[in-house]
Amino acid sequence: MYYDYMLVRLGELTIKGRNRGKFENLMLAKIKQALTAYERLTYEKSYGRVYITLNGEDADGVSAALRDVFGIGSFSPAVRAANELGAIREAALAVMNAHRPAPATFKMTVKRAWKEFPHVSQEMNHLVGAHVLRNTPALKVNIREPDVELKVDIQPQGTFVYCTVVPGAGGFPLGMNGKAMLLLSGGIDSPVAGWMAMRKGLEIEAIHFHSYPFTSEQATEKVVTLTQRLAHYGGRIKLHLVPFTELQTRLAQSKQDHLIITLMRRAMLRIAQKLAEQRGALALVTGDSLGQVASQTLGSMNVIGREIDLPLLRPLVMMDKQEIIRYAERIGTYETSILPYEDCCTLFVPKSPATNPNLRVVESVEHELGEELNRLIEEAVAGTELVVMTAQGREGARNAEEDRWF
Ligand code: ATP
Ligand code: MG
Repeated sequence: MYYDYMLVRLGELTIKGRNRGKFENLMLAKIKQALTAYERLTYEKSYGRVYITLNGEDADGVSAALRDVFGIGSFSPAVRAANELGAIREAALAVMNAHRPAPATFKMTVKRAWKEFPHVSQEMNHLVGAHVLRNTPALKVNIREPDVELKVDIQPQGTFVYCTVVPGAGGFPLGMNGKAMLLLSGGIDSPVAGWMAMRKGLEIEAIHFHSYPFTSEQATEKVVTLTQRLAHYGGRIKLHLVPFTELQTRLAQSKQDHLIITLMRRAMLRIAQKLAEQRGALALVTGDSLGQVASQTLGSMNVIGREIDLPLLRPLVMMDKQEIIRYAERIGTYETSILPYEDCCTLFVPKSPATNPNLRVVESVEHELGEELNRLIEEAVAGTELVVMTAQGREGARNAEEDRWF
């Protein structure tokens, strides 16, 4: 089918009242950014929608790119006709004829947004539907369970005819709701948490803790690859690589085996909070999911989360592993996440980690470490390296340097 239009419905932002114009402009910019490869496209913005004229560009390619743009509620490849009965009838027939597999039943839905059109919607349902039926002998009407729903949308600038509505990613345009730091391990969960944060309009910068040389370079590369995948949605993502070896080794010496994960997590959050302050981020995002492992029981979360003042966002907290995996597959991070490289936390995993750590004990262990703990945290922050990823790969080192010392 030769579609000549893409009718894009903006998502959640249409419910926002006063800042609507700003949101729509931001959405238009994000859509254009995602479609830069298609040079012949032209754009038109109108109340809660963006109309894209394909000008011969590939409708399938454009559809695939639109699926990943945050803030889109849904979209439809469409044919545009003049606001005139004959033209609309012909367009409707062409759309139906081109539909594969050929439908046995259909239903017409006409929406008359442009009130100056001479026939009301109900009348149009009959006028257009009858024309389609007359010219497609095998086709029947089925109002309740049609194979295809043929939609005719009469707008001031023209009538759009289509029969597919593709669900968009939803959410808000990226960056609209501020910035957060994502704690990105190499696992399945945290990349999904990052994608969800971005979908809600948060710009993210990623933080990864590595224990080189105990963890391998491949383990870090894996996180670099995950960041690159997230950059497919986020345009450009900064990844902060934090040296965690010394801190981790020191915490392990405190002889509190069952509390080691709790202590490590608290140290991670303190470092992440410092980086957030440097980078102007207002929240931390993790891939925690309630009950999944010892460090993600409510008791553990309580003791771990107390260490910081910034909001700690856990988008996956109520999700089952299978749901998380489905998202990971959909966003294209799963294959990388299941590569077998070790994570820093798996190095020191005790036989029986505390599922209900005692805050007072944890605090007293940290207190004993005193200034040394603060120093190690400061050193880890100072030793952090920055890598900037785009969907194409690593950005030049010079740029990264400039970025770091902003
Ligand atoms: P994931 O699949 O995201 O690794 P997980 O189920 O393995 O999660 P944990 O290893 O307990 O869970 O980690 C919980 C969360 O802590 C992770 O989702 C991530 O946000 C953060 N985290 C853990 N290890 C690291 C790390 N090395 N660097 C950065 N963040 C980490
Ligand atoms: Mg993990």
